Amino acid sequence: MVEYHSSERIAMPTPVRVRFAPSPTGRPHVGGIRTAMFNWLMARHAGGKFVLRIEDTDVTRKVEGAVEYIMDGLKWLGLDWDEGPDVGGDYGPYYQSQRLDLYRQAADRLVKQGDAYYCYCSPERLVEMRKEQVARKQPPGYDRHCRDLAPQERAQKEAGGIVPVVRFKVPLEGQTKFTDLIYGDVTFEHSTIDDFVLLKSDGYPTYHLANVVDDHAMEISHVIRGEEWVSSTPRHLLIYGALGYDPPQYVHHPLIVGPDRAKLSKRHGDVSILEFRKHGYLPETMFNFLALIGWSLDDKTELMTRQELIDNFSLERIGKTGAIFNRDKLDWMNGVYIRSLSIEDFTQRALPFLEQGLPSPVKRPLDIDYVRRMMPLIQERTKKLTEAPGLVKFFFVDKLDYDPTLLIARNMTPESTLAALDASSQRLSKLSIFNEESLETLLRPLAEELGLKAGQLFGALRTAVTGETATPPLFQTMAVLGRERCLRRIDEALEKLRRLSS
Ligand code: GLU
Repeated sequence: MVEYHSSERIAMPTPVRVRFAPSPTGRPHVGGIRTAMFNWLMARHAGGKFVLRIEDTDVTRKVEGAVEYIMDGLKWLGLDWDEGPDVGGDYGPYYQSQRLDLYRQAADRLVKQGDAYYCYCSPERLVEMRKEQVARKQPPGYDRHCRDLAPQERAQKEAGGIVPVVRFKVPLEGQTKFTDLIYGDVTFEHSTIDDFVLLKSDGYPTYHLANVVDDHAMEISHVIRGEEWVSSTPRHLLIYGALGYDPPQYVHHPLIVGPDRAKLSKRHGDVSILEFRKHGYLPETMFNFLALIGWSLDDKTELMTRQELIDNFSLERIGKTGAIFNRDKLDWMNGVYIRSLSIEDFTQRALPFLEQGLPSPVKRPLDIDYVRRMMPLIQERTKKLTEAPGLVKFFFVDKLDYDPTLLIARNMTPESTLAALDASSQRLSKLSIFNEESLETLLRPLAEELGLKAGQLFGALRTAVTGETATPPLFQTMAVLGRERCLRRIDEALEKLRRLSS
């Protein structure tokens, strides 16, 4: 029996070295990013090292640009790595495709020791074998056809030019046990593990071999990864055992699920961290939000800064059950973080979204001083930066497009509205200073003078100058728009009203 009580190792004074080991197969899923974050938090909490290793040995699944996407996502969240492809380190190279010799050496050694063997089975034979297994309702797996080939049989195959794969010789009996820091004791019967491939015929290792060789070579102390890898762990431990290496501490965490408890996928909406950036979430929000999916301080604290998360992080507080991705909570949290920004910070972060999202006739680059003045008016109401263009659009467009009946407040007619706006226009043009206070001082008494409720006059003015019925406070809005724009828009409103009543 191969037995590892890796929890006994917790007390060992090994320096903490953890890694994020993505395969560059696409855009970085928030689930993977959260795995990276748990590793990063562990390293920063313990004063250890966080390593980025690119597991690019599956040539068929490699996606051009994926490494850049992954790095971009990590950097956006401030998940900096101490060692990795671009920054280097003592344990490099950090691309597995640049470490092929190491894997070959390990595979050769395992063959020589009798822990692995060459397999010459053709892909066609393996497909056929699988079909038969399915038909016989047997569990799928390699049938060990080449496990005990005689030397002359091997020589024959070699002479035929067949390039073999290397397979691990899994013991036929017994179990592999290990203690996972989250899942506790885990046992796998060897009879359920087939003789898996270590080295493919193209000379590339499988994930299993490369992962073990590198975690050992890079002196990784804790392997923190998603629970989908639990079933790979006994294979890894068998390789560790055969190579005579000490395995790391295993920590498999539950995956992020959607509200329907299914693994979070595109079906649930955005899943790539880069999509969340594009859709107006702040990195601070994503950091806080993702760290608290499946990890908690005390079951009630929702808002935690990066430093608080580092200070309080512990593997023990990662939950055992699937963690739900709650989009309403994410939106709420983003609003909280947006409101906590200084106006200047908010402006700078919103600016690219405005440049991108305002209608095309609006002149670019935007007048930053003008933008700065309107941002305090929308900060309270912005939940995502992508909403900013819609909220401030009326400040920029030349012609407002709205239904003229919206100008007419309750208990008013086109005529009385016309008169009210006309009177406002005349007074506004004479106002010596055009700011929030002077507008208030002018317009409140004017409503009374016209025999109107403040709400009636302000409603008409609001629609006239913004084209909308719900906006930031009227006087502040008018002050930012400035006298000229306000007067022009009131004129246009008067024109619409005249057309309505004619
Ligand atoms: N390359 C694997 C992945 O893409 C790494 C799994 C592990 O951390 O061992 O997730």
